[in-house]
Amino acid sequence: MDDLEQSLNRNILITPVDYVLNWARRSSLWPVTFGLACCAIEMIATASPRYDIARFGAEVFRPSPRQADLMIVSGTVTWKMAPVVRRLYLQMAEPKWVISMGSCANIGGPFAYGYSVLPGVRLLVPVDVYVPGCPPRPESLLQGIMLLQKKIDRLSISGEREREEPSGDFSSYLPPDDPVRKELESLFPPYPPYKPSPELERSVG
Ligand code: SF4
Repeated sequence: MDDLEQSLNRNILITPVDYVLNWARRSSLWPVTFGLACCAIEMIATASPRYDIARFGAEVFRPSPRQADLMIVSGTVTWKMAPVVRRLYLQMAEPKWVISMGSCANIGGPFAYGYSVLPGVRLLVPVDVYVPGCPPRPESLLQGIMLLQKKIDRLSISGEREREEPSGDFSSYLPPDDPVRKELESLFPPYPPYKPSPELERSVG
């Protein structure tokens, strides 16, 4: 019996399920491949051998949002691009995370008061980690990823998240009949019913 107990003590590890899930999630973050401006160059450099993002299991930049669970918003988010960013986020798998990289994504950066630039990507997607700088160096992005990993460690199995969801209210920024505002509002709940495009209806017959 003593031998059995000793053997069990040496070979069995007991731990909560959420610890194992969180360990797996934080060790294999897959970023979606997209960049918006100069900060994207620093993000690309992070994947180079000098900085080696593979140490964090995050080197697999996915070409499809459906295969990704991390969005790194690297660069200036213009209003014209805003629906695209929101749509990409909606297409990503849950649980998913967002890093806002650089001053432009954080608060609009040098274009903060420009008519064409969002004053922060938090209006579109819930941000988990903000990385400051113009541009942030690759080391800063790696620091952001480490902070995100710590955050994922605290994720409960119930799925509760410590982050603010965007409201989808763009009335302070865009006039009511603005086509970008209408498109953005259709990408927030309550979602409008799905309508197939005329081309799709024609092809289905
Ligand atoms: S924060 Fe600076 S470096 Fe990054 S996209 Fe904006 S202007 Fe370019």
